[in-house]
Amino acid sequence: MYKFAFCFFSALRMASPALLMRVVASAYSVAEKAATIVRNVMAAGDLGIVEKTGANDLQTKADRLVQMSICASLARKFPKVTIIGEEELSADEVTEELIEDGHCEEILKKTCPAQYAGIKEEELVIWVDPLDGTKEYTEGLLDHVTVLIGIAYGGKAIAGVINQPYYNYEAGAGAVLGRTIWGVLGIGAFGFQLTEAPAGKHIVVTTRSHSSALVNDCISALNPDTVIRVGGAGNKIIQLIEGKASAYVFASPGCKKWDTCAPEAILHAVGGKITDIHGNSFQYNKEVKHMNSAGVLATLRNYDYYASRIPNSVKQSLVP
Ligand code: AMP
Ligand code: MG
Ligand code: MG
Repeated sequence: MYKFAFCFFSALRMASPALLMRVVASAYSVAEKAATIVRNVMAAGDLGIVEKTGANDLQTKADRLVQMSICASLARKFPKVTIIGEEELSADEVTEELIEDGHCEEILKKTCPAQYAGIKEEELVIWVDPLDGTKEYTEGLLDHVTVLIGIAYGGKAIAGVINQPYYNYEAGAGAVLGRTIWGVLGIGAFGFQLTEAPAGKHIVVTTRSHSSALVNDCISALNPDTVIRVGGAGNKIIQLIEGKASAYVFASPGCKKWDTCAPEAILHAVGGKITDIHGNSFQYNKEVKHMNSAGVLATLRNYDYYASRIPNSVKQSLVP
């Protein structure tokens, strides 16, 4: 009887996907719902723009609705997980139409890496940037916009979902609008074609709307062949994994943990590296301060080339 019960319960355990895979599979569908909200708010025409700390730090109705949708949907399914979202919102009731309870079956079919198979809900921290690239969203640079859901365990970004609601929006009729990229350390990343930047070319991607003398001095010191200025941390990581840029360099505070968690997991899942400008890894435990005060340095390949060329004067100006 004991043996039978043991076999029965181990079979049951094998049949039920690990918590991490269920969270990622749900985050995938929740991010797709978020993308629909982002597009609907834009289509309705009233963005409801609010300045947070100033004119370069905006919040729209889409940021608010998407954060409510993501946080309430995930909290309903995984009540013991810590969820930290960018926007400070009043504790309004979330309407049922904002709730997404679906999941991506394809993700559930993947085997959870052994080191994450026993994770419990209370050990996960989810970092949510409901709309990354808000400034660009308000200016109609729609493909800069992403929805970011990063999943951390033991202070490390281990899984993430990036939805790009307007991917393909200039490709014309017939092209599928929007895409969802996801990844888990030890499994890989999916939803895009991994491509390396042209060998021997130094293409730096950086901020479009949060430049400073220090940001520009740092880039000049790297003597790049090309500088691409686009909005969004998620969008810049996409530039790296699709071979459009060789390094993401941002020598400034301003970027927060919800900007880097999902991008970091996806970049690391394909062998890239992201740190602050000093080379320190980011921590994602729930007590950590939100600001990435010492900037961002990320590459898919050749991290050391860029890290070794960051001037000391820049490093001294950015305290972790
Ligand atoms: P960017 O590369 O300028 O699009 O910035 C990437 C992310 O960091 C976005 O979510 C920005 O809102 C945020 N960010 C960077 N710098 C600042 C800043 N000076 N003030 C507010 N947010 C910032
Ligand atoms: Mg952001
Ligand atoms: Mg945001």
